[in-house]
Amino acid sequence: MSYEIVCGIETHVELSTNSKIFCSCPVSFGKASNTNVCPICLGLPGTLPHFNEKVLDYAIMAGLATNCEISDELSFDRKNYFYPDLPKGFQITQHHNPLCKNGYIELSSGKKIRINHIHIEEDAGKLIHKDGKTFIDYNRSGIPLIEIVSEPDISSPDEALEYVKKLQHLMQYLGISDCKMQEGSLRCDINVSVKKAGDKELNTKTEIKNINSTSFIAKAIEQEAARQIEVLENGKGVISETRRYNELTQETESMRKKEKASDYRYFKEPDLPTIKISLQKVTSVKKLIPENPDLKINRYIDEFKLSKSQAATLAKYKNVADYFETACENIKNKNFVANFITSQIFSMFNTESEKQKFKVHISALDLNKLMKFLDNKETSQHLAKTIFNQMIETKKSFDEIITTVNTSLLDENATEKLCLEAVEKNQKAFSDYKSGREKAIDTLLSYVVKESNGKVDIDLAKKFFSGYEIY
Ligand SMILES: [Zn+2]
Repeated sequence: MSYEIVCGIETHVELSTNSKIFCSCPVSFGKASNTNVCPICLGLPGTLPHFNEKVLDYAIMAGLATNCEISDELSFDRKNYFYPDLPKGFQITQHHNPLCKNGYIELSSGKKIRINHIHIEEDAGKLIHKDGKTFIDYNRSGIPLIEIVSEPDISSPDEALEYVKKLQHLMQYLGISDCKMQEGSLRCDINVSVKKAGDKELNTKTEIKNINSTSFIAKAIEQEAARQIEVLENGKGVISETRRYNELTQETESMRKKEKASDYRYFKEPDLPTIKISLQKVTSVKKLIPENPDLKINRYIDEFKLSKSQAATLAKYKNVADYFETACENIKNKNFVANFITSQIFSMFNTESEKQKFKVHISALDLNKLMKFLDNKETSQHLAKTIFNQMIETKKSFDEIITTVNTSLLDENATEKLCLEAVEKNQKAFSDYKSGREKAIDTLLSYVVKESNGKVDIDLAKKFFSGYEIY
């Protein structure tokens, strides 16, 4: 009997606001334990929360970017439970009226994964288990979170992975979270159930808590689905429970029986007022939303005439895309600029994370000046690279460097003379080229570039070579 996987994902995204959600402690990662705390986020008696409006802006951005409807008011609820990482004994969250509802994320196959809702809540502290003891760090307590809750529309481990990566990319693009799973700023709870192929009704699901690496998403779902199939095949029923994925055994293991919403005795948070969300508010936040990465890729292909892979490479990180767009302003041949960034600049980075940070000493405006020089045929690609390298090495601006470099190119006569010399010295390559081996022209071109110290107009040289006949 074949089974189908049914999967829904709750994604917790820590928002990278400057301060926490209900106090002014900074939001930062890696600080000494219990140094980013105050009486409010420690839940001391007599303190009251005050809401950070930036959290609302960021959450509305997330909602609009995932095609959600935005509620016309913001209200909070208390989720009551005890755990040592929650000093107040309750978490302030949104239960009755989440901020965003009914959205979706579209996968590359065109399938839409519906988003039930997105709600705002505060993060709890962190328990650290070490040498048989448990320590508590409250630095994370009160960091703003949004929880993005999908419908059970995901039907394979691959779809789950694509969905989470897509959300991660989108949130990073919006600039509202760094979404680093290894640092816990993006965490997933995955609901898994299986059903016999074609069955309409859903079976009992289990929840795999706190998946903190994309590499575990597919494995955890595969393993949990296989376990449930075995339970069902043995004539037993799946128990509704919370499970954890053990990276070492690569299996899921039971943590506790699944609690119900009523167990948390939700009630409206009495210490925070309901805030009206005006249409103007939503409209003004909408203006902050950058172009969707998928649309950007299409624009680079259609308008800028880039290849699909080059467009995707440049659009992958927003700061790279912004740099590229500034650098290619008023440039006719955008491919020059695209090539320059993906070859010259990317070659300075060793890791994906360096590429993402994109720390370049040359400003996009300076690269734009250099590219204009190239675009107007005032210099050759070879010389442009030399100028670029000098700008990197000396950290000087384009205007400073350009006065020290002789950028003038060989005139037509001198170029022709050199081309004839190239043919004379590379007769084999020339006859190969003339007999149809296009690539053989590279030998001739590198000869003229080398002999002229890069001062040759490559397009002009190509024109000469293609016009010559074998004699
Ligand atoms: Zn605080």
